[in-house]
Parts: sequence; structure tokens; C-alpha cells
Amino acid sequence: MQLGIMNDPRLDACAEARWAAAHGFEFLDLTIEGPCAALEQIDVTELQTILTDAGMGVVGHTAWYLPFASPLARLRQAAVECVADTFDLFARLGACTVNVHIPAGRQMVHLFRRDNNVRWVAECFAQLAERAAPYNLQIMAEHPPDPGIGISDIASILAIDKRLGLHLDVGHANVGGDKLEGLLDRFGSRLVHVHLSDNRGKSDDHMPLGAGRVDWPRAIRLLKQHGYDGTITLEVFSQDRDYLLLSAQKVRAWWRDAA
Ligand SMILES: [Zn+2]
Repeated sequence: MQLGIMNDPRLDACAEARWAAAHGFEFLDLTIEGPCAALEQIDVTELQTILTDAGMGVVGHTAWYLPFASPLARLRQAAVECVADTFDLFARLGACTVNVHIPAGRQMVHLFRRDNNVRWVAECFAQLAERAAPYNLQIMAEHPPDPGIGISDIASILAIDKRLGLHLDVGHANVGGDKLEGLLDRFGSRLVHVHLSDNRGKSDDHMPLGAGRVDWPRAIRLLKQHGYDGTITLEVFSQDRDYLLLSAQKVRAWWRDAA
């Protein structure tokens, strides 16, 4: 298991990489999005030097608000292009995976049937899986913090291309009722990356681990029982980063103690 953090897109990505390296994280979950970490704002050479010197890896992350479910084909295609534009940078930094976000129900236009919305998302992700392949990048779909997007929707999306992986977010799985075990039972074999943050079950609050209602020893045990031993990003967005560092200590201890 390797632990990483995501850069805050309101800050300089190189400064964030230096902070992660100084605090012992093993990879950067590099989100490419504004206001301060858009593609043209990242100093790739500098970032590469920081990561190489620290022996850190990179996991690719893209903006959560891209309109993959828009009824307008041109907007969906623009979303695909925004992600495809990141492939060269991610490949240069040594990433193997790039995430895309399944839109939440509120991002879908309900004049159209639900299965149309889901199919549009799936078609975008299939196109990205194809275009990522020459860069040796795997596209992974992150499920939203929305109980309205169920296991059958995620299954429809992953079914379109067997190269797509699941990006599990334990915080998202806790919003509106615990779905963690169901997601792992159904998609555990396609799991390629994990995000962790806590919440009280009502909204995606990105709290430090233990501050909300997720049963963390159980969650970590379930991940291990499903054979997961890959990259885990702490998505703890507290202003005081001591809480992020404490969360990292706790994950390492829970991981060590889990059967
Ligand atoms: Zn996440």
C-alpha cells in the first residue's frame, strides 16, 4: 500500500509536491484543474525533478465537474478533449492511471431518460480508454457522493470497456448510506485506486479520518480482504494540515493491524 495526497488546485502544484515529499508521502494524486493547477500552469520539468528526487509516483486526476452527461454532444466531446489533453503530461511524469468522475445525479438533465445520461457518460469513458492506451494509461471511473448513482449505473459504465478501472472513494460511498462493501463485492476485481476522507453520511465533507462516521478499521479491513494493496490518497481538506498528517498515521496503523 502506498499513501499519497492530492494537490489543492488553489495552490501551486510544485509547492504541493514539495510538501508531500517533505512529509513522507509516496505519490502525488495530481489534479489538473484551475484555478492554480490547470495544464498551462504546471511547470512539468520542475515537478518532474521534485518527484524524481523524492522517489514519488503520480496518479492522474482530472476536474470533477466535466460535463460527461450533458445532452449536448459537443459539450461531452469537449469534456473528453479536456481529459485527453492531460495524457502527455501524466505519461511524462510516470503515471499509470488517470481518473474521471461519473457525474452526480444533479449534474444530469432529467428531461432525458436516466439510461441515456448513463450511456453518454459510458461512451465518453470508452473513448478515453481508447485514447489513453497509446500512453500506457488506464482510465479509472470515480463514483460520485450521490446515493442516486447506484451500483447498476456504475456497472453499466464499466461494462462498456474492460480496460476501465474503478476508482473507489470511501467518503463518497458513505454519503446517503454505506455502500462500501457492495461496491467492493461487485467491482473489487477492477479496483485500481482509492480515495479516503471522512464525513457524517450527509455530504462529502472531506474531514480527517475519525472525525466523521466511517468505521475506518472496518473499511481498511474490507480493502485488504478484497486483495487491495495499491495507491491510497488522503483527500482530507482541513485548513490545518496536522489533521491530514494524523490521518496518514492512522491509516498506516489500521493497515498494519488489519487482518
Ligand atoms: Zn475522491
